[in-house]
This record gives sequence, C-alpha cells and structure tokens, in this order.
Amino acid sequence: MDIIDKLIRDHHLSREEYIRLLALAEDPSATERLKEEACRLRRRYYKDKVYTRGLIEFTNYCKNDCYYCGIRRGNANARRYRLTKGAILDCCKNGYGLGFRTFVLQGGEDAYFTDARLADIVRSIKAGYPDCAVTLSVGERSYESYARLREAGADRYLLRHETASEGHYGRLHPPQMRLADRKACLYHLKELGYQVGAGFMVGSPGQTDQDIAEDLLFLKELGPQMVGIGPFIPHHDTRFAKEAPGSVELTLFLLSVIRIMLPKVLLPATTALGTLDPKGREKGLEAGANVVMPNLSPVEDRKKYDLYDHKICTGEEAAECRACLARRVEAVGYRIAEERGDART
Ligand code: SAH
Repeated sequence: MDIIDKLIRDHHLSREEYIRLLALAEDPSATERLKEEACRLRRRYYKDKVYTRGLIEFTNYCKNDCYYCGIRRGNANARRYRLTKGAILDCCKNGYGLGFRTFVLQGGEDAYFTDARLADIVRSIKAGYPDCAVTLSVGERSYESYARLREAGADRYLLRHETASEGHYGRLHPPQMRLADRKACLYHLKELGYQVGAGFMVGSPGQTDQDIAEDLLFLKELGPQMVGIGPFIPHHDTRFAKEAPGSVELTLFLLSVIRIMLPKVLLPATTALGTLDPKGREKGLEAGANVVMPNLSPVEDRKKYDLYDHKICTGEEAAECRACLARRVEAVGYRIAEERGDART
C-alpha cells in the first residue's frame, strides 16, 4: 500500500512516513488524490458550507519580537493603534448585520488589554450577540487569564504554534520565547474548554520537511478543532525581508493532508494564501478548507495591522470584503453559511 492510501486509511503517519509524503508535494497526481479525499471528507461533515469569521484586528501593540512579524515590538516604523471598546462593538454591530456569527478578536500581546478589560469586552459582545461565538487570538497568557476570559464567555482561541520543531522555533523567535510555553498554552486552553486552533506558517525561513513533519505530529497529538496554516510572506522591516515567501502549492498540499488527518477540523483558506495568489483562497477551499475570515476592522486602521507585505483586503469596507468573498466562495461551488459554525464533534 502506498503512503497516501495509508494516510487515508489511518488518518495518521509516522515521522518518517510524513517526510516521505512531503517528498510528493510537487507530484501532481499525489496532490490530486489528496485533494479529492480531502474534499470528500469536508463534504461528508460540512456539506457545501463555508463558515465566515469576522476578523477584528483590535491592537497592533505587541511586547514580543517574533522575527518574521511586521508588528513585532522592535519595528519602530510600525504605526501603533488600538481600538476602544466602543469601536470593537461597532465592528460587531456592522458584522452582525452582514451575517457574521463569529467574531475573532486578534491582536498583538498588548498589556493595555488586561484580563479585566478584555473580559469586559467579551462580556459585552456576548450580551449584545448571544447567538454569536467569540474567538480570541491574543497570544500567550497565564492559565488564570485564559480561565477568566473563558468565564467571561470566550468560546474559542487561536494560537498558532508557528513551528513544532525546537531548533526552527529558535530561528524564528528571540531566546525568551519558548516552544514549550506556546505548547503549554494550547493544552491549557483545551483543558479550559475552549475550541482551540493551532497552526503554522508554511515556508518560513529555514523550514525543512522534517520540521513540517513535527508540525503534523504535533497537530495529531493536540487534536485541535481548528488549524490555521498560511504561507510565510516577508515583511520589509524584519530580518527576513529578503527571504523567499512560502509556496502556495505546498500550502494547498498541506491543507489536504490536514483535512485527511483531522476530518472534522475547521480549516481556513487564509488571507496570506490570498495575498500570494489572487485565487489562493478559492484554491484553499478546493484543497479542503471550509472557513474564510473577512476583515471587519475599521478601514482607517487596516493597513496598520501589517504582519507581512502586500496584505490584501486592507482598503475595502467590511461589507465589500464579505460580498467579494461570498462571490468567490460561490464561484467554486460552495456557499456561505450564516451560523456560528462550531466544529463537528
Ligand atoms: N499575537 C497573536 C496573533 C498573531 S498574528 C498570537 O501570538 O497568536 C496571527 C498570525 O499571523 C501569527 O500566528 C503568524 O502565524 C502569522 N504571521 C505573522 N507574521 C507573518 C508573516 N510574515 N507571514 C505570514 N504569516 C505571518
């Protein structure tokens, strides 16, 4: 039996087998078989539905210095902003009217947003929109902090592990950031009953197939409800400014592999994928993704949440973003579902 049949049968492989599988990433017939199986599984659990998440990028202040990220602390050229509670609630109001039933609050690790402040915002959103899910994506916090935010009503948490390989993690982050801390956060979130999203960048500087195999092993071990992967894209104000971006094809290949490994997972076709390829998000859906995350942030701040160069959708109003994505989703045979879109259990 070949390696693809084995993945389809067992939904998992060993480290060595993943490395062998990754060697097939440029083989069109392998890609096609994986894609077919990924779409079959996605359809089995989610039919033709694509869930939308309204992304609210509410602060670009960050205490961390991740080497790849445009809003890292050390970037003196970043124009910093943070939204008020009122502005965040306005984004939700706008989003609710457009049909969003999940709001994702994403930001840098900004000490201004204490547990009390964030919990207050989460409570207000849940009070105003009880039929909506609130997802947080605000980096590493203590167990107690995650517990308070969960208590306040947060349903989900996105925290990409970025890379599950120690050596590679060290190439992407300053020494005070530890892979073990990041992993511990993910386990804490899970224990607290959040629907958890992990994930990694594809093609970040120095990444090897061995590193990606570690990512896949870690995903299988964690068993997250969501997995966010997107290609690395250089940012001009980082040490990786001159590095090559990640590969769209490899990202699509991995979306299919992850759908097969975790059939019920919520898998976004990410903005980074759409940034590197004008049809990237459509291709992501065709590779097994079932989530899109249009931007709900106020247009005047969009450009400042500048994680990487040439990020798309920084000029349009939320309504335009949503309409554009809906058209794109329908053009490839899926439809936008106006519901919370929790993971199937
Ligand atoms: N502070 C939060 C949110 C980070 S921004 C946290 O720590 O989780 C969201 C994601 O953007 C990151 O997890 C990272 O995977 C991605 N990202 C950052 N810089 C990037 C780049 N240069 N190219 C592609 N993706 C990037």
